[in-house]
Amino acid sequence: MRTLIIGGGIAGSTLAYALHRYGHDAVVAEARPGHRDTGGAFLYLAPNGINALAAIGLGDLPEAAGGFVASGMDFHNARGRRIADLQGEGDLEEYGAHGRVLRRARLHAELAERAQAAGARYEFDARLVELHRTADGVEAVFADGRSITADVVIGADGIWSTVRRLTWPAAPKPSYTGIVDCGSWTEVDLPDTTRQQMYFGHRAFFGYTVKNNVAYWFTNVPRRDEPARGELDDLDQAAWMGSIRRLHEKDPAPVRAILQEARHSLGAWPLYDMPALTTWHTNRVCLIGDAAHAVSPSTGQGASLAIEDAAVLAHWMQQDTSPAAMFAEFQADRKDRAEKIVRFGRQIGARKASSPIGSVFRDLTLSMFLRMGGKATEEQYGYQYGYRVPDQPAPPAGNPGTSNA
Ligand SMILES: Cc1cc2nc3c(=O)[nH]c(=O)nc-3n(C[C@H](O)[C@H](O)[C@H](O)COP(=O)(O)OP(=O)(O)OC[C@H]3O[C@@H](n4cnc5c(N)ncnc54)[C@H](O)[C@@H]3O)c2cc1C
Repeated sequence: MRTLIIGGGIAGSTLAYALHRYGHDAVVAEARPGHRDTGGAFLYLAPNGINALAAIGLGDLPEAAGGFVASGMDFHNARGRRIADLQGEGDLEEYGAHGRVLRRARLHAELAERAQAAGARYEFDARLVELHRTADGVEAVFADGRSITADVVIGADGIWSTVRRLTWPAAPKPSYTGIVDCGSWTEVDLPDTTRQQMYFGHRAFFGYTVKNNVAYWFTNVPRRDEPARGELDDLDQAAWMGSIRRLHEKDPAPVRAILQEARHSLGAWPLYDMPALTTWHTNRVCLIGDAAHAVSPSTGQGASLAIEDAAVLAHWMQQDTSPAAMFAEFQADRKDRAEKIVRFGRQIGARKASSPIGSVFRDLTLSMFLRMGGKATEEQYGYQYGYRVPDQPAPPAGNPGTSNA
């Protein structure tokens, strides 16, 4: 089966790697000129994401990509009082892995390089603009005129998916969450944290983890109106950091200390999630990762779900049946789980909003919310991943697609 994956991000590269482990070839068409993707600063890869990587033979990758263990969270109110915590020390025993904090670009590059080393072919500067059904497959047309014909097309092209828009023009669009996220890593004179530290600040939510005198920090800047696409791409860093410091000027000492040292933020990302789609697939096209179900980063689950999707789809694509039947099995395995986590992310986002009355209520009820959230965390981290790739990679087989350069 000729498989074309649109998007060489976290989901696309993981899928390409997993397919090659089964001996199934695939072409990855990526809009960027190479593997380098610097968006998103750093992220938390949860135990379920790490377990899914292990199941496809990439158990060593989180550490190889520089990830360090970060289990559990302490929550503080705006005066610095610890109001709740999430224990994480037992994650290894309970779920089989500790979550890790990784620089997103390193995770991304490591996945893409492993996929390429396993034999996946990448077409760079390949921005999909059209999809056409042919008699026996799908033709993908790219902005520079190139085209590739394949039996199936996998849309792994992220939250603003072109595959989704071209295949389901009436599908809902990503929904803005009212938060602009930003963050970076900054040298600080603070001790290592054993848990992630979260602050419901006076005017914005702030989180950080310290490892070897480097603070990995983010803040959720509230902004009611949705920024225009690209509006926040080239910010004046001095002005932007000044506004972030002012936002947190009354917050507890560690928050102010980190922001005092921070010279820049690695970006400013308006946060979106995806309303539920009616379906993720047709007979020849299937969505995975953020294209199908982008979750709010508040869940810390986006990358983990993208990796799970890739591992599960690779399994179903080995079955001796039609593409439509494979995709239906994949969707049955994944859709409810992913959409439940999207809804959970919305609830967390609502808790982060600050108002004086709301803050008092939140401080009083946060522990209870987290106890309820503990059940959700168990479901998220404890995902039983039943499919494992063969121990030895199989030699590639099949025609990866017909390219018309
Ligand atoms: C600020 C921020 C913080 C986050 N924090 C976390 C966290 O702590 N934990 C976590 O698990 N997740 C987090 N996430 C989410 C995580 O990064 C995403 O869920 C994950 O990257 C989804 O992977 P994906 O492969 O589906 O999409 P992406 O990684 O976005 O990859 C999509 C790829 O498709 C390519 N592409 C797009 N359009 C086209 C086209 N037309 N033709 C060809 N190629 C195309 C893109 O260039 C890109 O390489 C965060 C995200 C953001 C923005």
